[in-house]
Amino acid sequence: MPRRSSSRLVSVTLVGLLAAGAVRAQEPVTAIRAGRLVDVDRGEVRRDQVILVRGDRIEAVQPGAAKLPAGARVIDLSRSTVLPGLIDCHTHLVGEAQAADVLEPLERTETQEAMSGVRNARATLLAGFTTVRDVGTYRAFVDAGLRDAINDGTVIGPRMEVAGAYITVTSGGGEVTGQAPDVVVPPAFRFGVANTADEVRTRVRALLNGGADFIKVIATGAVLTPGTQPGVSEYTEEQLRAAVEQAAEYGTFVAAHAHGAEGIKRAVRAGVRSIEHGSLIDDEGIALMKARGTWLVADIWNGDYIDSVGRAEHWSADILRKNTETTETQRAGFRKAVAAGVRIAYGTDSGVYPHGLNAMQLPYMVKYGLTPMQAIQSATISAAQLMRWEDRVGSIAAGKYADIIAVDGDALADLRSFRKVGFVMKGGVVYKGP
Ligand SMILES: [Zn+2]
Repeated sequence: MPRRSSSRLVSVTLVGLLAAGAVRAQEPVTAIRAGRLVDVDRGEVRRDQVILVRGDRIEAVQPGAAKLPAGARVIDLSRSTVLPGLIDCHTHLVGEAQAADVLEPLERTETQEAMSGVRNARATLLAGFTTVRDVGTYRAFVDAGLRDAINDGTVIGPRMEVAGAYITVTSGGGEVTGQAPDVVVPPAFRFGVANTADEVRTRVRALLNGGADFIKVIATGAVLTPGTQPGVSEYTEEQLRAAVEQAAEYGTFVAAHAHGAEGIKRAVRAGVRSIEHGSLIDDEGIALMKARGTWLVADIWNGDYIDSVGRAEHWSADILRKNTETTETQRAGFRKAVAAGVRIAYGTDSGVYPHGLNAMQLPYMVKYGLTPMQAIQSATISAAQLMRWEDRVGSIAAGKYADIIAVDGDALADLRSFRKVGFVMKGGVVYKGP
């Protein structure tokens, strides 16, 4: 093929840009009439507003009495509360949700894992969660494949920021455990296994070069990983710092799974951006998080789900015991952290429970210390800040993606109403509702 001259390339590019601008200006405008509009940036509800959407973006927010652009398509949500799409900062979209009869990761093909992800992504979006931070998969990079398929329109689902796999010690909370100790687990399930600071750096590089957006480190044992103990630290502060420093080289951050008080403090001192779970946090840990500006992402609802469904379905006694030992202490720690002014972002650990029930935790955020507005902010603008995506999602503001949901009536009066999100728009496309 003959080489194009650079001047021709320049002119083609210019024509393309001009054409794109012209097309954008001609794109139809959608006007959403909002009876109550939740302004999470200012923490207030405004009555009778209109959101103008052009293409995949929000163009403007104006009073309901203002003139609409000619030819605007109107979506009438005047009897509803309209909010930015919700964000869950702790999901596991890939694979089957926890259940008594669930197949272990080693009993499923990569395709089956991916197909579960397709179903879970759809359920999550239709529940009103238009963005997730997906914090790990056993089989490496299935999450990245799902993210890309959603972004190119192949699959319906939320915007995803993904971890690629878990950074975990051998036999730690991020490993596939439970089989006989002499059974060798295939490398695809152990992509992030690292036991020294150097190995941590190597695996962080491999994950970020392979397509992960951020790093998830398993700093302590886990409730749902057989053989590991939530209170036990699995990395030293130096090893955690290696992950943070290596991620920073790539301009990204580390989220640390940490239940135990010591593991939490090591992770915070090492400079992680968020503590996940935080179940056994002590006062010193809370003070450290406040001082360092570390985010707390505490899954304070699913303990009740595990206790009721897990008992009814006869999940393993080991899991049920660890769940009991962490649930109420986690809630007490969360309440203290809120009172101390620790930054809170919404995360539910979906996959522990069936996907699409992500909003079940919202009333719990209020029960354990937040106001209803703060609970909504934790799942919108605060979550976006944690993800470093506040330039594109998290509030209804000009220039951001048109990710918009609605709930009947005065939704903030009772956050249980978020179980029934009646309208879901993502990137200007309506996936549910009128
Ligand atoms: Zn999790």
